[in-house]
Amino acid sequence: MQHKKFATRAIHAGQEADPSTGATIIPIYATSTFTQEAPGKHKGYEYSRTGNPTRSALEECLASLEGARYGLAFASGSAATDAVVNLLEPGEHLVSCSEVYGGTFRLFSSVYGRRGLRVTYVDDSRPEAFAMALTPKTRLVWLESPTNPLLNIFDIQAIATLARNNGTLVVVDNTFATPYLQNPLALGADLVVHSTTKYLNGHSDLIGGAVVTSDQALHKEMAFYQNAAGAVPSPFDSWLILRGIKTLKIRMEAHQRGADQIASFLQNHASVEKVYYPGLKQHPGHELALKQMKGQGGMVSFTLKNSANVDSFFRKLNLFAVAESLGGVESLACHPCTMTHATIPEEKRKALGITPQLIRLSVGLEDPADLIEDLQEALKA
Ligand SMILES: *Cc1c(COP(=O)(O)O)cnc(C)c1O
Repeated sequence: MQHKKFATRAIHAGQEADPSTGATIIPIYATSTFTQEAPGKHKGYEYSRTGNPTRSALEECLASLEGARYGLAFASGSAATDAVVNLLEPGEHLVSCSEVYGGTFRLFSSVYGRRGLRVTYVDDSRPEAFAMALTPKTRLVWLESPTNPLLNIFDIQAIATLARNNGTLVVVDNTFATPYLQNPLALGADLVVHSTTKYLNGHSDLIGGAVVTSDQALHKEMAFYQNAAGAVPSPFDSWLILRGIKTLKIRMEAHQRGADQIASFLQNHASVEKVYYPGLKQHPGHELALKQMKGQGGMVSFTLKNSANVDSFFRKLNLFAVAESLGGVESLACHPCTMTHATIPEEKRKALGITPQLIRLSVGLEDPADLIEDLQEALKA
């Protein structure tokens, strides 16, 4: 299956017809336990926290889409992040890009920080800045690319090369790009984390996460932790994510077409100060995005010239729902400063550029003309 093209793998990887019934679509194996022929004699499944056939299909499909050997599905992107950070011993050091998902920052600082994890945040997107932060104790570099909400791009290949020379692992949170647009393992990363809540499921109706890797030892350690800590997705959620993934390619292409049109519209609007979208030539990561991604994705952020207009913008929106999250078929608008990034200290938010004027859009699959009309109305002073 691995030599097949992406859209084919999305529909078929890990999803052969059910051996016992011939069901074409992988069934929802709603069972906590599996009957054994004799004590210890079973068909590979014993208890659904440890393994469930619907979840196994999802794990195999996710691994295939990232070009990885192993996949693990979790109950949330945060649980997947936790499984990776849990690889570190107290006293070990982690280097992270400073603009990380708010919940990831919270996990680093308020959960693992209390148990002796040391984290250095790098503000600069140049690979040399990451090299400077590495110490002999640095076990892991954490990257998000594109970042949330400013859509900065990191040179994954260059940073992975520098990290490898230091004996340091690199993990990329690939939630924004999805495996359709970017494959960090092919660029030299060791691990990839996803919040499947977002584009992979794509329909805003569940919470899920995943970690994929081709490193057997890392996989074994995280599979042990997945079973020990137990943050696994239900068979039903696993099935919904598998269903979502079947249309990932065409959804991403459509999200991107809409985002392109919206970014151009915003750029030419008198009330808009700055547009953050890697598809725009003036975006500082534009060239790099062209090199390491297949497209720029469906997220667009922008700032209003006048912060006094932010409230009325959100009030006047009609089609865009004012909501956290992203990657669903419906368009969402978010105010990072008071919503998704409220857990980041104000000082740090300011330094990152997450200002009160900043608005983040997850461009859905409605007709772009209707979305632009909605924004036009909301931007009227
Ligand atoms: C949503 C998100 C997460 C966390 O995932 P949950 O499924 O909400 O736990 C992590 N990283 C990024 C980039 C996200 O957007």
